[in-house]
Amino acid sequence: MSDRAELYPPQRLAAAQRAMTRAGLDALLITPGSGLRYLTGYHAHALERLTCLVLPRHGTPTLIVPTLERAAAEASPAPATGLRIVDHADGTDPYPLVLRALEGPVVAVGLDNHMWAEQVLALRATLPQVNQRLAGDVLRELRMCKTPAEVAALREAGAAIDAVHARMTQWLRPGRTEAEVGADIANAIRETGHAVVDFVIVAAGPNAASPHHETSGRVIEAGDPVVVDIGGTMPSGYCSDSTRTYVAGGTPDPEFLAYYEVLHAAQRAAVAAVRPGVTAEAVDAAARDVITDAGYGAAFLHRTGHGIGLDTHEEPYVVTGNTLPLEPGMAFSIEPGIYLAGRHGARIEDIVVCTADGVERLNTTPTELAPL
Ligand code: ZN
Ligand code: ZN
Repeated sequence: MSDRAELYPPQRLAAAQRAMTRAGLDALLITPGSGLRYLTGYHAHALERLTCLVLPRHGTPTLIVPTLERAAAEASPAPATGLRIVDHADGTDPYPLVLRALEGPVVAVGLDNHMWAEQVLALRATLPQVNQRLAGDVLRELRMCKTPAEVAALREAGAAIDAVHARMTQWLRPGRTEAEVGADIANAIRETGHAVVDFVIVAAGPNAASPHHETSGRVIEAGDPVVVDIGGTMPSGYCSDSTRTYVAGGTPDPEFLAYYEVLHAAQRAAVAAVRPGVTAEAVDAAARDVITDAGYGAAFLHRTGHGIGLDTHEEPYVVTGNTLPLEPGMAFSIEPGIYLAGRHGARIEDIVVCTADGVERLNTTPTELAPL
């Protein structure tokens, strides 16, 4: 996935300008992160020095960068979008450059959802009469439906994380600590082509009942259910995220075996429910109903899934109350879980894409409970 022009097409700025008009915003101010990368292909690090894309509804977009970052910005796909790059030297105030780049009076601007507070407040001082809103209101609708090139990048990420799960028997066994296993997994995430290890959860025994446990010094015991939830970012910028629950030898608690079957059926039901026109909350219900009917509804502590792309968690969220109808190209996780506090837990997670007539799973390692 090296064709950056396909992944980051230059016409996204124009699409954002059209969406801005619909949203009643006069400009977007986008700082380093997934929004900037999505719009321009420029992968910048957030610094105390201001880097900011100023995208007025009409007119020429401007990328404001620190002087020392100018060469990196020029080498990125950003110049192909037709934006101009202006830089500010250390010791100078960059905020007048924002004012100039707006090219006229504005009433409402959309700020990057993850902009640092110090920059938000500096912009408030620079533009005291201007309404500050969230740029995510505009970018959400653009980013939710992936292009075929983006789906290909997510498919590549899915295959890479699947290759890590496929090697789990090498590392996961009784007598080792969660942290030791996690370190081996992190190395493998890099070896399978990820540029960044985003998270490694190895949650054994009672720790498996805590959905966002990371790793600890707990020694894995025979018969422990072990939730392994792992993900990283590929050089393309797109993310992987997949969970499997293993049993590290021995015989697990019979109740675990019973509810794992329920969870497995729930995860399959939710995947099977995905097709265009079905709402996000209906996919959540497809998993939740199976778990609730089996008496474990209160043990399913979270939503069924989240969108994924340049961020691991983005829209659309597969959650009760989200009446958004699915469209082809929407990519998200299906990850129901059952957690019994103080005892054990389980989660199964695949990334899926809504297709023209159904669903494609981007993670294809088996979901049946297999002894290691
Ligand atoms: Zn996950
Ligand atoms: Zn996830």
